Amino acid sequence: MTDFAKTRAFFDLPEGIIYLDGNSLGPLPSAVPVRLDHVMRLEWGEMVITGWNRAGWIDMPRRVGDRIARLIGAAPGTVVVGDTLSIKVYQALASALDLRPDRRKIVSDSGNFPTDLYMAEGLIRSLDRGHELSLSAPENLEAAIDEDTAALLVTEVDYRTGRRHDMARLIAKAHQKGALVIWDLAHSAGAFPVDVSGLGADFAVGCTYKYLNAGPGAPAFIYVAPELADRVTPALSGWMGHEAPFAFDLDYRAGHGIDRMRVGTPPILQIAALDAALDVWDEVDLADVRAQSVALSERFIAGVEAACPDLTLASPRDPARRGSQVAFRFEHGYAAMQAMIARGVIGDFRAPDIMRFGITPLYVGADEIDRAVGILAEIMATRAWDEPAYHRREAVT
Ligand SMILES: *Cc1c(COP(=O)(O)O)cnc(C)c1O
Repeated sequence: MTDFAKTRAFFDLPEGIIYLDGNSLGPLPSAVPVRLDHVMRLEWGEMVITGWNRAGWIDMPRRVGDRIARLIGAAPGTVVVGDTLSIKVYQALASALDLRPDRRKIVSDSGNFPTDLYMAEGLIRSLDRGHELSLSAPENLEAAIDEDTAALLVTEVDYRTGRRHDMARLIAKAHQKGALVIWDLAHSAGAFPVDVSGLGADFAVGCTYKYLNAGPGAPAFIYVAPELADRVTPALSGWMGHEAPFAFDLDYRAGHGIDRMRVGTPPILQIAALDAALDVWDEVDLADVRAQSVALSERFIAGVEAACPDLTLASPRDPARRGSQVAFRFEHGYAAMQAMIARGVIGDFRAPDIMRFGITPLYVGADEIDRAVGILAEIMATRAWDEPAYHRREAVT
């Protein structure tokens, strides 16, 4: 059994704050500043450029990729870390289209995160080979996959409502039609058990600053199924993905396996932060995290529905169809969230009317859930949200 009192002690949570936004930016693990101080002073500071070899910086994208592999059901040597998720989506999609040259359709849904769709649009423009991005409603996604589908680009959990796709069904349908699957794990990795190899995903991508707590701007990761890894042609053919970067050849030859998904110089400080942030997962069984997330989410929904009649549940009621967040709709959701933040409960808001609450058992327990419900109930009952200061929109909501 996972000891959630122990996992909580891994984090430096701000005093007096109830943090329900770990689905957007995980809090600071206390091991991270210690590790960064070490890397900066003793590695970068003392070793300078020799750190690439002596401190093993050059292998970090693979080594830390292996630690993520364990969390998503991937074999060692199939995941690499680097760049941002938008870039990893582009890479995976470009590879998939390349592997299905006779097909023209990229299938996705309107619940996907916009950057995934924007990257697809940009790739279609650059290729200029008549590809089409076919968007359906999430509930019609499975039916939209057909014989002309090159790639299914699917984010498992909807960033607004927390609605979770049935990935086993979607992957089976895609493969039956001969399409490749790119599974975006942005709201899955670290939220519940994931099995990319068991379900046969062709590509999987995700970020590390949400449930994996690696800090703002932390690098993304990409998984390529082992049987495809030596066949994909990297669209972003950077020198770090070359077979022999330090041969400095004038022509590009893709590196072996997942290494070819590396692009340029890896962000060592941020990967070191990720490496330290991943320590907590050595103590954790993801099945326990999922069970606790469901229990806390049910408790939160029941509490809010009992106390706040003006809020409507935007997430699926069936926990099996939710990720690890709960969303409510309220016309003045932005202001209500600002009022909550002013009272020390941090969630966030997604236009036009969604109040989002991340449920992250590593550092949130039943006591925080109950106190958050109490504070929200008080704000709604007193209309405390209706203060001009709470209606002023900031750049990041
Ligand atoms: C958070 C998120 C992103 C963010 O992409 P970045 O390039 O890291 O900014 C992309 N896709 C999905 C589905 C997300 O949830």
